[in-house]
Amino acid sequence: MKAFVLALTLVFCGPLAAANDVIFGRSSGLTTGPDGKVTPLSGTLQFEDAPDVTSKVASERVDMVNVKCGGDVEFSNGGSCTMQQMAKDMAEHVDKYALQCFRAAARAAGLTEPKKIQITASGCFNDRTTAAGAVSNHARGRACDISAVKMDGGKEMQLKKPGSEAGLGREFYDGFRNCWKEVTACAGGGGGGEGATGSIGASGHQPPPANGSHDDHIHLSVPNCSR
Ligand SMILES: [Zn+2]
Repeated sequence: MKAFVLALTLVFCGPLAAANDVIFGRSSGLTTGPDGKVTPLSGTLQFEDAPDVTSKVASERVDMVNVKCGGDVEFSNGGSCTMQQMAKDMAEHVDKYALQCFRAAARAAGLTEPKKIQITASGCFNDRTTAAGAVSNHARGRACDISAVKMDGGKEMQLKKPGSEAGLGREFYDGFRNCWKEVTACAGGGGGGEGATGSIGASGHQPPPANGSHDDHIHLSVPNCSR
């Protein structure tokens, strides 16, 4: 009954809008069936429950999902859709906001706003620390490294390194980052770094201090601000 009421609430009211509704407000809405599987109502990102994983680095259980193919946001490798594992919190956030933020990024870069996006991810869940030895959001299943994107079945475009000629540069990344900050609950808080913004990296234009290990990809995260 509870699940049914929740489903009705989502269908009729929709999820709460972001505090600052600057973008499109697009959201698929999600419902959980009796089998515990999460089913997208309009198919932005397809994912289903996976066995929990215990992160050694973060010393916590990760409520994991498998992100699959078939939505209008997909994770891919070289243009072919590949499954990724991430925390359910992250998948729900990506489901709600990634497409609109990639549209904002495309708009900022003077490109056509895509209806479908394939994200080339070089890794999501990864039980490891940061280079500085702290718990990485990858270890919590709350981060993915995005090295390239393919919009509406077009050419795969790399997040470009400073000085390289082809690819997506500062305008694209800033457009994405500004949007992701708007929709990430603890943007502006969380103690700086990825906790503050939910995304770092790409194109060698870090907020100071510069971060050379993130000059060719977007580290996309959904920080848990209660930590
Ligand atoms: Zn990363």
